[in-house]
Amino acid sequence: MKLDSLTILGAGIIGLSVAREARLRGLPVRVLDSRSFGTSCTHAATGVLKAPEHRRSPYLDLRHQSWEEWPQLAEQLKEESGGIDCGFRICGGLDLRDRTVQDPHRAMEKLHGSGGNVRVLDQKELKRLLPEMHREPQAGIYIEHQAVVDPGGLMEAMRRSCLGMGVEIAHDLGEISLGIEEGHRVVRSSVETPLPPIDEKNPLVLSAGWETSALINPALEKPLPLKPVRGEAIALDIPAPPHIVTFDAKLADVDDPSGNRSRFSWIPGPGGSSWFGNSVGDTGEGKETLPAPTATGRARLIEAAISFFGPGVESRIVRHWAGLRPKSLRQGGPLMGPIDTARTLWIATGHYRTGLLIGPKTAEWLVDSLTGKSEIHDNFSVPEEFRI
Ligand SMILES: Cc1cc2nc3c(=O)[nH]c(=O)nc-3n(C[C@H](O)[C@H](O)[C@H](O)COP(=O)(O)OP(=O)(O)OC[C@H]3O[C@@H](n4cnc5c(N)ncnc54)[C@H](O)[C@@H]3O)c2cc1C
Repeated sequence: MKLDSLTILGAGIIGLSVAREARLRGLPVRVLDSRSFGTSCTHAATGVLKAPEHRRSPYLDLRHQSWEEWPQLAEQLKEESGGIDCGFRICGGLDLRDRTVQDPHRAMEKLHGSGGNVRVLDQKELKRLLPEMHREPQAGIYIEHQAVVDPGGLMEAMRRSCLGMGVEIAHDLGEISLGIEEGHRVVRSSVETPLPPIDEKNPLVLSAGWETSALINPALEKPLPLKPVRGEAIALDIPAPPHIVTFDAKLADVDDPSGNRSRFSWIPGPGGSSWFGNSVGDTGEGKETLPAPTATGRARLIEAAISFFGPGVESRIVRHWAGLRPKSLRQGGPLMGPIDTARTLWIATGHYRTGLLIGPKTAEWLVDSLTGKSEIHDNFSVPEEFRI
């Protein structure tokens, strides 16, 4: 069906990527956000993009495709936004995780699927590359296919690109909800704003990050399988590493059978800054719906940073921030596609820890499906039991 317009709730990386993609195909697009620009989870990201080790599942394949398309996307955004550099740079990574250090050659075998150069580095090379490191790992692995992007720069480039193409973007609209009036779905906002009709020719995309569930759950029998997972990071006044450094730090208060919570990254941030974050940051403080940084999160980051840089690193923290990542609770990646049989309401969320990497690619798929070009892979579509 030929659409007349598209309305999107949520102006994070997902909402803006969908807006850009739809506008590139000629659709009139409007994006509404309840908060101000700069407060989304996307702005709290640490900007790491990694090619996965293999592509043996639809989600890993999506990550691979996204990785391959990122260099071109960065170029296009620069052109469309009038010259804004989103900071995309293939900087490579150093894997210093415990298992890797114990048996680097075995670990390296698994990494060839990432597509680039992979090689073992000895202690001498590691010391030369990372003079600030207090540890003395015997070996590590260099992985070429890892990159950084500046999340703030990316969002500004996306925003300008959208505005330049005529997308209407409205921020600070306060509480936005969905309702039904005279049998039709409507968008309600506490700030007076001209709100669009929602019907088959003018569908609505919900890309409000983890808060997408608050928008849609009142209309569902079963709540959307989505939850917020906190991530926290700090900036240090330590010279930036030449590559993204990934290592393990066993934390005193964290039981970590999967090895996820003990994994930390030291990242070359924008403008030569040093960023430091962990892979999963739930603090268990009962503040899982507040995006503010926590004392527990800070203490864990400091503990890990001390294990890497040595004592005294606490005094070198220049910023501490947090964000709530939208985690899809069913296996296999984000939740995308129509949620009602009339195909008027669409979901685009659940990108969890890889929204910057895969967000633009999934936006392309969503718009393909909206415009009838192709359907979304079963792995990523909204399961039947959660549809209206
Ligand atoms: C510390 C940290 C580090 C991360 N590092 C990386 C990384 O290195 N690489 C990577 O790929 N990903 C990373 N991520 C994950 C990435 O940030 C997320 O996957 C991504 O930002 C999710 O984007 P989103 O657009 O779904 O949500 P958001 O960016 O949160 O955008 C949702 C928007 O919806 C708005 N909204 C909420 N409710 C409503 C409503 N009712 N109506 C209208 N608007 C509404 C919000 O104000 C917000 O602007 C990281 C996240 C964190 C927290």
